[in-house]
Amino acid sequence: MPKSNLMDRTSGFLKKSLETMPPKKRLEYLNQKLRGIVQYAYRNSPAFKEKLDSVGIKPRDIRTIKDLDRIPITKKADLVELQKKNPPFGGFEGVPLSELRRIYVSPGPIYEPGEMEYQELGWAQGMYACGFRPGDIVINTFSYHMVPFALHMVDNSLHRIGCIVIPTGVGNTEQQVNILKTFKVTGFCGTPSFLHAIAEKAEEMGLDLKKDLNLKVGFVAAEMLPESLRTKLEEKFEMVIRQTYGTADIGCLGYECLKKNGMHVPDDKIVQIVDPQTGQSLEPGKTGEVVATTFNKVYPLIRFGTGDLSVLTETPCPCGRTSPRLIKILGRVDQVTKVRGLFIHPGQVSEVASKHPQIERCQMIVTRKENKDEMILRIELKEEVPPSERLKEEIEKSIREVMKLRGEVQFLPRGTIPEGAKIIDDQRTWE
Ligand SMILES: [Zn+2]
Repeated sequence: MPKSNLMDRTSGFLKKSLETMPPKKRLEYLNQKLRGIVQYAYRNSPAFKEKLDSVGIKPRDIRTIKDLDRIPITKKADLVELQKKNPPFGGFEGVPLSELRRIYVSPGPIYEPGEMEYQELGWAQGMYACGFRPGDIVINTFSYHMVPFALHMVDNSLHRIGCIVIPTGVGNTEQQVNILKTFKVTGFCGTPSFLHAIAEKAEEMGLDLKKDLNLKVGFVAAEMLPESLRTKLEEKFEMVIRQTYGTADIGCLGYECLKKNGMHVPDDKIVQIVDPQTGQSLEPGKTGEVVATTFNKVYPLIRFGTGDLSVLTETPCPCGRTSPRLIKILGRVDQVTKVRGLFIHPGQVSEVASKHPQIERCQMIVTRKENKDEMILRIELKEEVPPSERLKEEIEKSIREVMKLRGEVQFLPRGTIPEGAKIIDDQRTWE
């Protein structure tokens, strides 16, 4: 098979009429979509109705994006709580359970309803902007089980563009390299660190990444992408790598175009930047929490607080897309953080601790070594408890169970963890 260099990956749009709307038309379009979803959700999602009733608002009071500020923000932690009280979806679902195709389980646990026919547009817009085209053969290395991202979101979006998907999931790097070679795979979906692992494995196997492999485009998510790592991988493979941003609950909230000019907000979401204290939206250029609203009737999250800090810009992008852009994700509003693509939060650390009464105090440290996230649970044991290999292994097992991630346990002398220390201390730095 020849290298598919003839394919035009640098121009065009997935939905030109939406992506190039003049700002005024876009505002009208979004306001109309907003009115529709607010009315729908009020009738069909008990949690949303309760939310509006609690502040004395009727759907007709929400006419424009500005009015959204009147609706209280729903946070991820609220989802967990409300789902516990009112299982399985906390009343956030917009259709009866019997109409779902799948149910997803994310760490927390948080349950997500998955519709019969996939509606989301955002991820596919991002993939197209990055250069994915019909006929591309793509490995999807995100994890396929339990969580909605790989199967529901990425796989369906690739299908929407017309790509051929090889659902490899994560791991088995040697086999992944062989698949890349055998099928002259042109596209990669996964985390930047896993693409890095594949590059290392391929080189170890004696392959020339440019001549023996055919990767052209990479769509990465779920992790920070340091520019140094992007440049290194783009040069090694001679490919284009673009990142995207979103959450499993609400979908894509931003994607990079070829201009690498921040992340365009897709046309099926409203993204606001709000003051984390007051919840009031801020003007472009100001830093605040990313709060998003989707038009998805199956799971109509309205004013969903992501906990991420960012800045929005409305200056025109030379790519021709007119949507606003999130300049950069600047970190987490609280200590909720992402490790190897999954959210971890202080509640999970406490849950691990509660399973082992021998623990007096503990703190999770997140670091990064050779482009890989590492989690170390530092523990001070009760006076009468001697540290042992067996206890270490037991606690590490609990970390895996609760957080769905591997973490290392380190026993420390009593009095080492300072008073008032953060439960999760994210020590990673991003240049
Ligand atoms: Zn652009």
